[in-house]
Amino acid sequence: MYDFVVVGAGPAGSRFSRRAAERGYDVLALERGSVGEPLACSGHVSTDIWEFTPEGAREELLQNEVFGARFHVGGPASDDYPFYKREVISNVIDRVGLDRRLADAAREAGVDLREHHSVSTVEERPDRVAVTATGPDGTETFEARMVAGCDGPVSRVRRELGLPEPGEKLQGVLGFSTDEDPGDFVDVHLTAPRFFAWRIPRGEAGVEYGLAAPPGSEPPARELFESFTDEYGTETGDFCAGMIPVGPAETVTSRRGLLIGDAAAQTKPFTGGGILYGMTAADHAAREIDPERPSTLADYESAWREDLATEIRLGHWIRRAYSLPEPVQRVGLSAFSGEIGVHMDKPTSFFSTEHLSKLLSRS
Ligand SMILES: Cc1cc2nc3c(=O)[nH]c(=O)nc-3n(C[C@H](O)[C@H](O)[C@H](O)COP(=O)(O)OP(=O)(O)OC[C@H]3O[C@@H](n4cnc5c(N)ncnc54)[C@H](O)[C@@H]3O)c2cc1C
Repeated sequence: MYDFVVVGAGPAGSRFSRRAAERGYDVLALERGSVGEPLACSGHVSTDIWEFTPEGAREELLQNEVFGARFHVGGPASDDYPFYKREVISNVIDRVGLDRRLADAAREAGVDLREHHSVSTVEERPDRVAVTATGPDGTETFEARMVAGCDGPVSRVRRELGLPEPGEKLQGVLGFSTDEDPGDFVDVHLTAPRFFAWRIPRGEAGVEYGLAAPPGSEPPARELFESFTDEYGTETGDFCAGMIPVGPAETVTSRRGLLIGDAAAQTKPFTGGGILYGMTAADHAAREIDPERPSTLADYESAWREDLATEIRLGHWIRRAYSLPEPVQRVGLSAFSGEIGVHMDKPTSFFSTEHLSKLLSRS
Protein backbone atom coordinates (compact mmCIF):
# COMPACT_ATOMS: atom_id res chain seq x y z
CA MET A 1 0.00 0.00 0.00
CA TYR A 2 1.26 3.50 -0.87
CA ASP A 3 1.28 6.36 1.66
CA PHE A 4 -0.17 8.78 -0.91
CA VAL A 5 -1.75 8.46 -4.32
CA VAL A 6 -1.47 11.88 -5.95
CA VAL A 7 -3.85 12.55 -8.84
CA GLY A 8 -2.46 15.04 -11.39
CA ALA A 9 1.14 16.05 -12.12
CA GLY A 10 0.78 19.81 -12.62
CA PRO A 11 2.76 22.19 -10.39
CA ALA A 12 0.74 21.35 -7.25
CA GLY A 13 0.86 17.57 -7.74
CA SER A 14 4.53 17.34 -8.65
CA ARG A 15 5.55 19.68 -5.85
CA PHE A 16 3.55 17.81 -3.22
CA SER A 17 4.76 14.42 -4.52
CA ARG A 18 8.37 15.53 -4.41
CA ARG A 19 8.15 17.01 -0.93
CA ALA A 20 6.25 13.99 0.47
CA ALA A 21 8.81 11.58 -1.05
CA GLU A 22 11.65 13.64 0.43
CA ARG A 23 10.02 13.11 3.84
CA GLY A 24 10.31 9.37 3.28
CA TYR A 25 6.76 8.60 2.14
CA ASP A 26 5.90 6.14 -0.60
CA VAL A 27 4.18 8.18 -3.33
CA LEU A 28 2.40 7.16 -6.54
CA ALA A 29 1.45 10.06 -8.87
CA LEU A 30 -1.01 9.45 -11.70
CA GLU A 31 -1.20 11.90 -14.60
CA ARG A 32 -3.98 11.66 -17.19
CA GLY A 33 -1.92 12.92 -20.16
CA SER A 34 1.72 13.81 -20.84
CA VAL A 35 3.12 16.15 -18.18
CA GLY A 36 2.61 19.82 -19.13
CA GLU A 37 0.19 19.23 -22.00
CA PRO A 38 -2.05 20.66 -23.22
CA LEU A 39 -0.91 24.19 -22.36
CA ALA A 40 -3.61 26.44 -20.86
CA CYS A 41 -1.63 29.03 -18.92
CA SER A 42 0.38 32.22 -19.44
CA GLY A 43 3.21 31.21 -17.14
CA HIS A 44 3.43 34.77 -15.81
CA VAL A 45 4.72 34.42 -12.26
CA SER A 46 6.50 36.35 -9.54
CA THR A 47 10.24 35.78 -9.24
CA ASP A 48 9.47 33.60 -6.18
CA ILE A 49 8.94 30.77 -8.68
CA TRP A 50 12.66 29.97 -8.60
CA GLU A 51 12.40 29.01 -4.92
CA PHE A 52 10.32 26.04 -6.04
CA THR A 53 12.33 24.81 -9.02
CA PRO A 54 15.44 22.64 -9.28
CA GLU A 55 18.83 24.17 -10.01
CA GLY A 56 19.33 25.36 -13.59
CA ALA A 57 15.59 25.76 -14.25
CA ARG A 58 15.71 29.55 -14.59
CA GLU A 59 18.21 29.44 -17.46
CA GLU A 60 16.08 26.89 -19.26
CA LEU A 61 12.58 28.29 -18.64
CA LEU A 62 12.86 32.10 -18.48
CA GLN A 63 11.39 33.87 -21.54
CA ASN A 64 11.12 37.48 -20.35
CA GLU A 65 11.49 39.73 -17.32
CA VAL A 66 8.67 42.13 -16.48
CA PHE A 67 9.00 45.40 -14.55
CA GLY A 68 5.36 46.48 -14.45
CA ALA A 69 1.85 46.56 -15.88
CA ARG A 70 0.08 49.21 -17.95
CA PHE A 71 -3.60 49.29 -17.03
CA HIS A 72 -6.18 50.45 -19.57
CA VAL A 73 -9.85 51.14 -19.01
CA GLY A 74 -10.46 50.57 -22.75
CA GLY A 75 -8.64 48.91 -25.67
CA PRO A 76 -5.09 49.39 -26.98
CA ALA A 77 -5.78 52.96 -28.13
CA SER A 78 -6.99 54.09 -24.68
CA ASP A 79 -4.87 55.92 -22.06
CA ASP A 80 -2.61 53.73 -19.98
CA TYR A 81 -1.82 53.86 -16.28
CA PRO A 82 1.58 52.29 -15.55
CA PHE A 83 2.40 50.52 -12.28
CA TYR A 84 6.07 49.56 -12.05
CA LYS A 85 9.15 48.83 -9.98
CA ARG A 86 12.76 49.64 -10.75
CA GLU A 87 13.61 45.95 -10.31
CA VAL A 88 12.08 42.89 -11.97
CA ILE A 89 8.59 42.14 -10.60
CA SER A 90 7.73 39.02 -12.50
CA ASN A 91 8.92 36.51 -15.05
CA VAL A 92 7.32 35.04 -18.13
CA ILE A 93 8.29 31.38 -18.30
CA ASP A 94 7.89 28.29 -20.44
CA ARG A 95 4.99 26.70 -18.57
CA VAL A 96 5.17 23.30 -20.29
CA GLY A 97 8.89 23.19 -19.42
CA LEU A 98 8.08 24.13 -15.81
CA ASP A 99 5.73 21.18 -15.37
CA ARG A 100 8.30 18.82 -16.88
CA ARG A 101 11.07 20.12 -14.62
CA LEU A 102 8.89 19.75 -11.51
CA ALA A 103 7.85 16.22 -12.51
CA ASP A 104 11.50 15.24 -13.11
CA ALA A 105 12.38 16.55 -9.63
CA ALA A 106 9.56 14.45 -8.16
CA ARG A 107 10.81 11.34 -9.94
CA GLU A 108 14.36 12.03 -8.74
CA ALA A 109 13.01 12.20 -5.16
CA GLY A 110 11.63 8.66 -5.60
CA VAL A 111 8.05 9.29 -6.73
CA ASP A 112 6.52 6.62 -8.97
CA LEU A 113 5.02 9.09 -11.50
CA ARG A 114 2.98 7.45 -14.24
CA GLU A 115 1.73 9.40 -17.25
CA HIS A 116 -1.32 8.39 -19.32
CA HIS A 117 -3.22 7.17 -16.25
CA SER A 118 -6.66 8.71 -15.93
CA VAL A 119 -8.31 8.40 -12.52
CA SER A 120 -12.01 7.62 -12.61
CA THR A 121 -13.05 6.71 -9.05
CA VAL A 122 -11.86 7.26 -5.50
CA GLU A 123 -13.29 5.29 -2.62
CA GLU A 124 -12.59 6.26 0.98
CA ARG A 125 -12.53 3.34 3.41
CA PRO A 126 -11.94 3.52 7.18
CA ASP A 127 -8.23 2.62 6.92
CA ARG A 128 -7.33 3.41 3.27
CA VAL A 129 -8.39 4.83 -0.07
CA ALA A 130 -8.85 2.91 -3.31
CA VAL A 131 -8.08 4.89 -6.48
CA THR A 132 -9.02 3.41 -9.84
CA ALA A 133 -7.25 4.56 -12.99
CA THR A 134 -7.16 3.52 -16.61
CA GLY A 135 -3.74 3.41 -18.26
CA PRO A 136 -2.05 1.85 -21.28
CA ASP A 137 -2.29 -1.61 -19.66
CA GLY A 138 -5.94 -1.37 -18.68
CA THR A 139 -7.82 -0.43 -15.53
CA GLU A 140 -6.15 -0.85 -12.15
CA THR A 141 -7.02 0.00 -8.54
CA PHE A 142 -4.30 1.40 -6.28
CA GLU A 143 -4.50 1.49 -2.48
CA ALA A 144 -3.01 4.17 -0.28
CA ARG A 145 -3.39 5.68 3.16
CA MET A 146 -4.45 8.97 1.58
CA VAL A 147 -5.32 10.53 -1.76
CA ALA A 148 -4.23 14.01 -2.85
CA GLY A 149 -6.42 15.57 -5.55
CA CYS A 150 -4.11 17.85 -7.55
CA ASP A 151 -6.17 17.38 -10.68
CA GLY A 152 -6.92 20.97 -11.60
CA PRO A 153 -10.04 23.14 -11.77
CA VAL A 154 -12.45 20.44 -12.93
CA SER A 155 -11.31 17.99 -10.28
CA ARG A 156 -12.51 14.41 -10.41
CA VAL A 157 -11.13 13.73 -6.94
CA ARG A 158 -13.10 16.69 -5.53
CA ARG A 159 -16.28 15.20 -6.91
CA GLU A 160 -15.47 11.65 -5.80
CA LEU A 161 -14.72 12.82 -2.24
CA GLY A 162 -17.92 14.88 -2.16
CA LEU A 163 -16.00 18.08 -1.44
CA PRO A 164 -17.57 21.46 -2.30
CA GLU A 165 -16.97 23.12 -5.67
CA PRO A 166 -15.15 26.50 -5.83
CA GLY A 167 -17.44 29.52 -5.70
CA GLU A 168 -16.79 30.40 -9.33
CA LYS A 169 -14.97 29.18 -12.44
CA LEU A 170 -13.89 31.67 -15.11
CA GLN A 171 -13.32 30.78 -18.74
CA GLY A 172 -9.75 31.69 -19.81
CA VAL A 173 -8.61 31.87 -23.44
CA LEU A 174 -5.27 32.73 -24.98
CA GLY A 175 -3.35 32.77 -28.27
CA PHE A 176 0.08 33.75 -29.53
CA SER A 177 1.50 35.96 -32.27
CA THR A 178 5.00 35.31 -33.55
CA ASP A 179 6.26 38.92 -33.18
CA GLU A 180 9.31 38.95 -30.93
CA ASP A 181 8.85 41.34 -28.02
CA PRO A 182 11.29 41.67 -25.12
CA GLY A 183 9.15 44.53 -23.62
CA ASP A 184 9.24 45.34 -19.90
CA PHE A 185 5.48 45.78 -19.40
CA VAL A 186 2.41 43.60 -19.62
CA ASP A 187 -0.82 45.33 -20.68
CA VAL A 188 -4.03 44.81 -18.73
CA HIS A 189 -7.36 45.91 -20.27
CA LEU A 190 -10.35 46.14 -17.93
CA THR A 191 -12.68 45.36 -20.84
CA ALA A 192 -13.75 41.74 -20.16
CA PRO A 193 -16.82 41.28 -17.92
CA ARG A 194 -15.74 41.04 -14.24
CA PHE A 195 -12.14 40.32 -15.25
CA PHE A 196 -9.63 41.56 -17.85
CA ALA A 197 -7.83 40.99 -21.13
CA TRP A 198 -4.03 40.92 -21.34
CA ARG A 199 -1.03 41.22 -23.63
CA ILE A 200 2.22 39.61 -22.46
CA PRO A 201 5.56 40.12 -24.24
CA ARG A 202 7.35 36.76 -24.23
CA GLY A 203 10.71 37.73 -25.75
CA GLU A 204 11.69 35.47 -28.64
CA ALA A 205 8.65 33.25 -27.92
CA GLY A 206 6.34 35.96 -29.34
CA VAL A 207 3.46 37.86 -27.77
CA GLU A 208 0.56 36.32 -25.88
CA TYR A 209 -2.96 37.76 -25.93
CA GLY A 210 -5.60 36.44 -23.57
CA LEU A 211 -8.64 37.13 -21.49
CA ALA A 212 -10.89 35.55 -18.89
CA ALA A 213 -14.58 36.05 -18.20
CA PRO A 214 -17.39 34.23 -16.38
CA PRO A 215 -18.99 31.42 -18.43
CA GLY A 216 -22.18 32.53 -20.14
CA SER A 217 -20.86 36.09 -20.65
CA GLU A 218 -22.24 37.92 -23.68
CA PRO A 219 -20.44 38.04 -26.03
CA PRO A 220 -18.70 34.73 -25.19
CA ALA A 221 -15.01 34.74 -24.19
CA ARG A 222 -13.84 33.48 -27.59
CA GLU A 223 -15.63 36.33 -29.43
CA LEU A 224 -14.31 38.91 -26.97
CA PHE A 225 -10.84 37.50 -27.59
CA GLU A 226 -11.20 37.92 -31.35
CA SER A 227 -12.35 41.56 -31.02
CA PHE A 228 -9.47 42.18 -28.62
CA THR A 229 -6.78 40.85 -31.00
CA ASP A 230 -8.47 42.71 -33.91
CA GLU A 231 -8.10 45.92 -31.93
CA TYR A 232 -4.39 45.16 -31.61
CA GLY A 233 -4.36 44.46 -35.36
CA THR A 234 -2.71 41.08 -34.84
CA GLU A 235 -3.20 37.47 -35.90
CA THR A 236 -2.81 34.77 -33.26
CA GLY A 237 -2.33 31.02 -33.44
CA ASP A 238 -1.94 28.12 -30.98
CA PHE A 239 -5.24 29.11 -29.38
CA CYS A 240 -5.92 27.40 -26.03
CA ALA A 241 -8.47 27.60 -23.25
CA GLY A 242 -8.94 26.55 -19.64
CA MET A 243 -10.95 27.18 -16.49
CA ILE A 244 -9.81 29.41 -13.65
CA PRO A 245 -11.35 28.49 -10.27
CA VAL A 246 -11.94 31.32 -7.83
CA GLY A 247 -12.72 30.48 -4.24
CA PRO A 248 -11.73 28.71 -2.17
CA ALA A 249 -14.42 26.45 -0.71
CA GLU A 250 -14.85 26.19 3.06
CA THR A 251 -13.13 22.81 3.19
CA VAL A 252 -10.59 21.06 0.97
CA THR A 253 -10.10 17.93 3.08
CA SER A 254 -12.15 14.79 3.74
CA ARG A 255 -11.55 11.71 5.95
CA ARG A 256 -8.57 10.47 3.95
CA GLY A 257 -8.35 12.96 1.11
CA LEU A 258 -7.10 16.45 0.41
CA LEU A 259 -7.13 18.89 -2.48
CA ILE A 260 -4.22 21.11 -3.50
CA GLY A 261 -3.84 23.79 -6.19
CA ASP A 262 -6.64 24.59 -8.63
CA ALA A 263 -8.64 21.60 -7.33
CA ALA A 264 -8.78 23.55 -4.04
CA ALA A 265 -9.21 26.92 -5.85
CA GLN A 266 -5.98 28.18 -4.26
CA THR A 267 -5.69 31.01 -6.78
CA LYS A 268 -5.39 34.80 -6.79
CA PRO A 269 -8.93 36.11 -7.43
CA PHE A 270 -7.60 39.28 -9.08
CA THR A 271 -5.31 37.59 -11.65
CA GLY A 272 -6.40 33.93 -11.75
CA GLY A 273 -2.77 32.94 -11.11
CA GLY A 274 -2.46 29.73 -9.16
CA ILE A 275 1.02 28.31 -9.77
CA LEU A 276 2.65 29.88 -6.70
CA TYR A 277 -0.31 29.51 -4.32
CA GLY A 278 -0.74 25.86 -5.33
CA MET A 279 2.91 25.02 -4.71
CA THR A 280 2.90 26.98 -1.43
CA ALA A 281 -0.11 24.94 -0.27
CA ALA A 282 1.65 21.75 -1.47
CA ASP A 283 4.54 22.52 0.86
CA HIS A 284 2.13 23.02 3.78
CA ALA A 285 0.47 19.70 2.97
CA ALA A 286 3.75 17.77 2.81
CA ARG A 287 4.94 19.32 6.06
CA GLU A 288 1.74 18.91 8.07
CA ILE A 289 0.20 15.63 6.93
CA ASP A 290 1.15 12.26 8.34
CA PRO A 291 -0.69 9.68 6.19
CA GLU A 292 -1.01 7.35 9.21
CA ARG A 293 -2.86 10.07 11.17
CA PRO A 294 -5.92 11.42 9.33
CA SER A 295 -6.36 14.07 12.05
CA THR A 296 -3.31 15.86 10.57
CA LEU A 297 -5.44 16.82 7.54
CA ALA A 298 -6.91 19.52 9.79
CA ASP A 299 -3.39 20.86 10.33
CA TYR A 300 -3.01 21.25 6.56
CA GLU A 301 -6.34 23.14 6.38
CA SER A 302 -5.19 25.54 9.10
CA ALA A 303 -1.66 26.00 7.75
CA TRP A 304 -2.49 26.89 4.17
CA ARG A 305 -5.40 29.14 5.19
CA GLU A 306 -3.24 30.95 7.74
CA ASP A 307 -0.71 31.64 4.99
CA LEU A 308 -3.01 32.45 2.04
CA ALA A 309 -6.59 33.21 3.20
CA THR A 310 -6.01 36.91 3.89
CA GLU A 311 -4.23 37.35 0.55
CA ILE A 312 -7.14 35.64 -1.22
CA ARG A 313 -9.71 37.74 0.65
CA LEU A 314 -7.94 40.98 -0.31
CA GLY A 315 -7.61 39.62 -3.85
CA HIS A 316 -11.42 39.41 -4.04
CA TRP A 317 -11.60 43.09 -3.05
CA ILE A 318 -9.13 44.10 -5.76
CA ARG A 319 -11.15 42.17 -8.33
CA ARG A 320 -14.28 44.14 -7.43
CA ALA A 321 -12.56 47.23 -8.83
CA TYR A 322 -12.68 45.62 -12.31
CA SER A 323 -16.46 46.08 -12.29
CA LEU A 324 -16.55 49.70 -11.11
CA PRO A 325 -17.89 52.35 -13.51
CA GLU A 326 -15.20 53.57 -15.93
CA PRO A 327 -14.91 57.12 -14.52
CA VAL A 328 -14.27 55.69 -11.04
CA GLN A 329 -11.68 53.27 -12.46
CA ARG A 330 -9.87 56.18 -14.14
CA VAL A 331 -9.73 58.16 -10.90
CA GLY A 332 -8.46 55.13 -8.93
CA LEU A 333 -5.86 54.15 -11.53
CA SER A 334 -4.52 57.65 -11.85
CA ALA A 335 -4.32 58.02 -8.05
CA PHE A 336 -2.32 54.81 -7.54
CA SER A 337 -0.28 54.51 -10.76
CA GLY A 338 3.46 55.15 -10.77
CA GLU A 339 6.22 53.38 -8.88
CA ILE A 340 4.92 50.76 -6.47
CA GLY A 341 6.28 48.55 -3.69
CA VAL A 342 3.74 45.75 -4.03
CA HIS A 343 4.50 42.02 -4.32
CA MET A 344 2.31 40.56 -7.08
CA ASP A 345 1.30 37.48 -5.03
CA LYS A 346 0.66 39.42 -1.82
CA PRO A 347 -2.12 42.00 -1.82
CA THR A 348 -1.28 42.62 1.87
CA SER A 349 1.97 44.21 0.63
CA PHE A 350 -0.16 47.16 -0.54
CA PHE A 351 -0.05 48.16 3.15
CA SER A 352 3.70 47.53 3.50
CA THR A 353 6.00 50.32 4.62
CA GLU A 354 7.83 50.04 1.28
CA HIS A 355 4.66 50.60 -0.72
CA LEU A 356 3.17 53.29 1.50
CA SER A 357 6.43 55.24 1.44
CA LYS A 358 6.44 55.04 -2.39
CA LEU A 359 2.88 56.44 -2.45
CA LEU A 360 3.77 59.22 0.00
CA SER A 361 6.93 60.16 -1.87
CA ARG A 362 4.81 61.01 -4.94
CA SER A 363 2.69 63.63 -3.20
C1 LIG B 1 -5.86 31.07 -19.58
C2 LIG B 1 -5.13 30.84 -18.29
C3 LIG B 1 -4.01 31.58 -17.99
C4 LIG B 1 -3.34 31.40 -16.77
N1 LIG B 1 -2.23 32.14 -16.51
C5 LIG B 1 -1.58 31.98 -15.33
C6 LIG B 1 -0.40 32.72 -15.04
O1 LIG B 1 0.07 33.52 -15.85
N2 LIG B 1 0.21 32.54 -13.84
C7 LIG B 1 -0.27 31.65 -12.91
O2 LIG B 1 0.29 31.53 -11.80
N3 LIG B 1 -1.39 30.92 -13.18
C8 LIG B 1 -2.03 31.06 -14.35
N4 LIG B 1 -3.13 30.30 -14.63
C9 LIG B 1 -3.59 29.34 -13.62
C10 LIG B 1 -2.66 28.13 -13.59
O3 LIG B 1 -2.62 27.54 -14.87
C11 LIG B 1 -3.17 27.14 -12.55
O4 LIG B 1 -3.39 27.82 -11.33
C12 LIG B 1 -2.18 26.00 -12.32
O5 LIG B 1 -1.99 25.27 -13.50
C13 LIG B 1 -2.71 25.08 -11.23
O6 LIG B 1 -1.84 24.01 -11.05
P1 LIG B 1 -2.41 22.62 -10.56
O7 LIG B 1 -1.24 21.71 -10.46
O8 LIG B 1 -3.28 22.82 -9.39
O9 LIG B 1 -3.39 22.14 -11.73
P2 LIG B 1 -3.08 21.83 -13.27
O10 LIG B 1 -1.90 22.57 -13.73
O11 LIG B 1 -4.38 22.01 -13.97
O12 LIG B 1 -2.69 20.29 -13.25
C14 LIG B 1 -3.66 19.31 -13.02
C15 LIG B 1 -3.17 18.03 -13.66
O13 LIG B 1 -4.08 16.99 -13.33
C16 LIG B 1 -4.27 16.17 -14.46
N5 LIG B 1 -5.56 15.50 -14.30
C17 LIG B 1 -6.79 16.05 -14.35
N6 LIG B 1 -7.75 15.11 -14.16
C18 LIG B 1 -7.09 13.94 -13.97
C19 LIG B 1 -7.52 12.59 -13.74
N7 LIG B 1 -8.83 12.28 -13.64
N8 LIG B 1 -6.57 11.65 -13.61
C20 LIG B 1 -5.24 11.94 -13.68
N9 LIG B 1 -4.79 13.19 -13.92
C21 LIG B 1 -5.69 14.18 -14.05
C22 LIG B 1 -4.24 17.14 -15.63
O14 LIG B 1 -3.93 16.49 -16.84
C23 LIG B 1 -3.15 18.11 -15.20
O15 LIG B 1 -1.87 17.73 -15.65
C24 LIG B 1 -3.82 30.45 -15.84
C25 LIG B 1 -4.93 29.67 -16.15
C26 LIG B 1 -5.59 29.86 -17.37
C27 LIG B 1 -6.79 29.02 -17.69
